[in-house]
Parts: sequence; structure tokens; C-alpha cells
Amino acid sequence: MAVQWISGKIARKQIWSDGLFTVSIHCPGVAPFESGQFLQIGMQLPEKHLHRPYSVASPHGETLEFFIVRVDEGELTPRLWALNEGDAIDVSAKATGGFTLSHTPVADCIWLLATGTGLAPYIAMMREDDLWERYKNVVLVHGVRFATDLAYQNELLEVRARFGERFHSIPVVSRAEVPGAISGRITTAIENGSLESQANQALSASNSVVMMCGNPQMLDDVEALLDARGMVRHKKSAPGQLVVERYW
Ligand SMILES: Cc1cc2nc3c(=O)[nH]c(=O)nc-3n(C[C@H](O)[C@H](O)[C@H](O)COP(=O)(O)OP(=O)(O)OC[C@H]3O[C@@H](n4cnc5c(N)ncnc54)[C@H](O)[C@@H]3O)c2cc1C
Repeated sequence: MAVQWISGKIARKQIWSDGLFTVSIHCPGVAPFESGQFLQIGMQLPEKHLHRPYSVASPHGETLEFFIVRVDEGELTPRLWALNEGDAIDVSAKATGGFTLSHTPVADCIWLLATGTGLAPYIAMMREDDLWERYKNVVLVHGVRFATDLAYQNELLEVRARFGERFHSIPVVSRAEVPGAISGRITTAIENGSLESQANQALSASNSVVMMCGNPQMLDDVEALLDARGMVRHKKSAPGQLVVERYW
């Protein structure tokens, strides 16, 4: 089915570091959606309409946030990076995707694992009550290469101030030593137990569900590790603990 496009306008562009940015797009008319779903954004070129899917980093509203990294050799993201406030951008009218809390079982603890811009859907979820009503404990794990990739830090501190011990935000930084962060990869931090000890939670089938989003290598590696703990993908027909969103 042909995508229906809404002509949006960039309301704000926040640059976190070179090539890493959040655009807020004023695009009234997007149909109501659930946090965690994605929209297409893009633009008309002389030869084609160029668009890609992006998780929405804010709950439904008239202005929507997208957390994006420029892929230097990519087709769309260098063009998105070049846009500024007031510029036009197309947004699909209808969101899709099953990476949502309504597709995720309830448990004592929810682990929200992200690499890079895979943080986006969790920012949207954390701004809504549903997450906090469904789960007693929320552990957000953000894997990045450098400290400058750790976006949304102030917002995460505010969430911590609001929810206290119910919420843990754990940065995992692979190419630098950063105070307060685990050094290395998410997989290593699961294997050596440092993730569980920082979160003060067990990562097990009996108490946890895990959402994971971002780089496909991280998803595959974490899924294999959790499989060994008896944690498998959740399906309606066969309940499990893992809900996964691949970015490429
Ligand atoms: C459901 C879904 C949601 C997505 N949400 C986001 C989002 O919120 N933010 C976001 O930045 N991207 C997101 N993506 C990826 C996005 O759709 C594009 O693939 C990405 O922006 C690259 O587009 P491009 O045209 O510049 O590169 P292309 O010319 O399409 O090249 C694609 C290549 O870029 C690399 N790549 C793609 N995405 C990323 C990434 N996020 N980080 C590093 N390398 C990447 C991969 O090597 C991929 O093969 C999402 C993808 C899917 C499927």
C-alpha cells in the first residue's frame, strides 16, 4: 500500500555530538500510535522519494522527536543532518511496529537494552505512565562507543530523581573509560555479572523481560547469551521474555 505523507516542519534540532542529533518535527495529523512504534521520514528527490523508518523518541503528539545518527556513507541521514529549523520534511501518517509494551509480557523487572540510537523508543516509553504501572523495576542499558554518544543524560537523571531505586540507567562505553559507566560491551557486562550487580537485579526468566533495540550484532549476541539462561523471544502463541527491534 502506498505510504501517505504528511508535510512536517523541523521545530528543533538538538545536536548531541558531531552526527548525533534529535530532530523535533511538527507534523500534526499523524495517527495515534503506541510508544515504541516507528514512522517513516524522508524527502522527495528529483528521481524518487527517499525515506527510512525511525523509532519515535516521544509519545504521540503534534510534534514528534527522532533520535538519529548520521551514517556518512548513507543515503538519507547526511541529508537529514543538513536540515535546520523551519525546513520541510515528510513524515508517514501512520506508525507501525510491534516493539511496544503491549507486546511485552509483565514481569517484576524490565530491561531496556539499546545500542546507539536504539535508545529512541525507550525515551518515548519512559515519558508515559504505562511503563511505570506495568513494571516495578526498570533497567535502562545504553551501549555506546564514546561518552559523547551518551545523549538524553539530563532527562535520565530526572527519571532517576523521580523513581529512585525503581530505575537504573547504566551506560556501557566500549572505547573509553568513563566514570559511572561500565567499560566494554553489553554482552561482556552480562557475562561477567557487572550489569546485574549495577542494576541490583537478577537477569533471569523468573523475574525479567528484556526489550532490545539497535545494532544487529548486539541483538544476536545478547539473544544467544539469554537463550542459555532459558530466555526466549516472546510470541503470542508461545510466551517468552525477549522483544527485539533490529535497525538494520
Ligand atoms: C524499525 C526501525 C527503526 C529505526 N529507528 C532508527 C532510529 O530511531 N534512529 C536511527 O538513527 N536509525 C534508525 N533506524 C535505521 C534507519 O532506518 C536507517 O537505516 C539509517 O538512518 C541509515 O539510513 P541512510 O539512508 O543514511 O543509510 P543507508 O544508505 O540506508 O545505509 C544503511 C546502512 O547504515 C548503517 N546503519 C543503519 N542504521 C544505523 C544506525 N542507527 N546506527 C549506525 N549505523 C546504521 C547500516 O550499516 C546499514 O546497512 C531504524 C531502522 C528500523 C528498521
